[in-house]
Amino acid sequence: MKNKDIRLRFAPSPTGFLHIGNMRSALFGYLLSQSLGGSFILRIEDTDQKREVEGAVDSLLDVLDWVGIKFDEGPHVGGDYGPYIQSQRLDIYQKYTQELLDKGQAYHCFCSSERLEEMRQKQAAEKKPPKYDEYCRHLSREAVEEKIKQGESYVIRQKIPSNSCVEVYDELRGKIVFNTRDLDDQVLMKSNGVPTYQLASVVDDHLMKISHVTRGDEWLASFPKNILLYQSFGWASPKFIHLPLILNKGGGKLSKRQGDVFVEDYRRKGYLPEAIINFCALLGWRPQDEQELFTLDELKEKFSIEGLGVSPAVLDLEKLDYLNGYYIRQKSLEGLRKLCYPYLSQEGLVNNETDKDFIEKVLLISRERLKRLEDIASLSFYLFRDDFVYEEELLIWKDLSLDQVKNNLKEIYQVIDSINENAWQIESLEKKILSYLKDKGYKNGDFLWPLRVALSGQKNSPSPFELLWALGKERSLKRIERAMI
Ligand code: GLU
Repeated sequence: MKNKDIRLRFAPSPTGFLHIGNMRSALFGYLLSQSLGGSFILRIEDTDQKREVEGAVDSLLDVLDWVGIKFDEGPHVGGDYGPYIQSQRLDIYQKYTQELLDKGQAYHCFCSSERLEEMRQKQAAEKKPPKYDEYCRHLSREAVEEKIKQGESYVIRQKIPSNSCVEVYDELRGKIVFNTRDLDDQVLMKSNGVPTYQLASVVDDHLMKISHVTRGDEWLASFPKNILLYQSFGWASPKFIHLPLILNKGGGKLSKRQGDVFVEDYRRKGYLPEAIINFCALLGWRPQDEQELFTLDELKEKFSIEGLGVSPAVLDLEKLDYLNGYYIRQKSLEGLRKLCYPYLSQEGLVNNETDKDFIEKVLLISRERLKRLEDIASLSFYLFRDDFVYEEELLIWKDLSLDQVKNNLKEIYQVIDSINENAWQIESLEKKILSYLKDKGYKNGDFLWPLRVALSGQKNSPSPFELLWALGKERSLKRIERAMI
């Protein structure tokens, strides 16, 4: 049974792909709801129609499902507190706007966009922070009625109390006091009858009985205005947890150009959902012990508010690569083959007829170096194709001459040729070749380096024994022959 007093929500605006910061908000909300035994709700905040992007909701649902975040209520699963899409709740917001007007906690503002622009420019010139100058705040009721009758367009603004203090409480930061002098008479309802985030999120969090709000700390500035609205309505507010900023490793803001912003980009590059979840969980949450590898199920149990901090989280992509490499190696070969197939096929390296066992052999010897699935093609193309080229000089080990190297290849060719295909296993190939070199008193590098390059054409690759094994006897001998001449 769910604890019905614990209800958290993820409330994205469908303005494009899912940002890694929003993913983190979704994850923390989800984890907290699960660790406290409550429900997790999806609410689509589509009140900013100008910024709305078609298909964004579907892509959002797809990504969240892919990483394993599940909702108990939402537009796609229903629930008792719907509709869960704000554009379908417009009459609700009208009702609550009217309540604020009746209570004298909100007012009509008829200022034209030209007037507001002029005001902003003046404030900027005087180096004052932008703030509505309350021009319409004191209009008489008659004046307001007359303007409405004349068909003048208007918005509804929040009436922030003059000269007082608002005390707010953030679960991570404790008490914060704001002076209302610094707060804007925020627009709550736009002229087209659509509310702003400010009104809609408060009304919905209340009506949907949200107990905790986890959101990015860019919303701290709206926090006192949210709390004033709760007070105006006479409602208790949920607990607020403003999650710390996420910076890139250089200490700057995340940027779309660096490609580190959208979860879809990470997915396309071949980061696994397990890695993304583990990585995002550590963006602002610290486990009690040194553990750093967490599955989603473990996180659901261990996550707690106590582990959250306020100092900015750093998006360390090397760490993500490390985690991804770890989760890649946890996959079965069959599972990994299915995951890598699209990346290999895109490069024309495999098709329906490619032997599955061979692909799995390639993966077995390459996965140690694989950090992102998209790298599989560049790591292993030479195993799939025989027509790769390389500079002959690459065969040369230390101060050997090219002739010596070729002679060594001829000699090792004979050894390999004499190995029975029944013994074609990595360990036995290794044992046989190494004992031959030892018996002869040869230095390993003088033979193994050129052998490895002959088989791969690469500076870096798996060991020659692994390459021999994966390629099989015939293809291996052909490659050595090609390097010998
Ligand atoms: N719709 C807001 C956003 O996408 C939600 C903020 C919140 O969680 O309250 O940023």
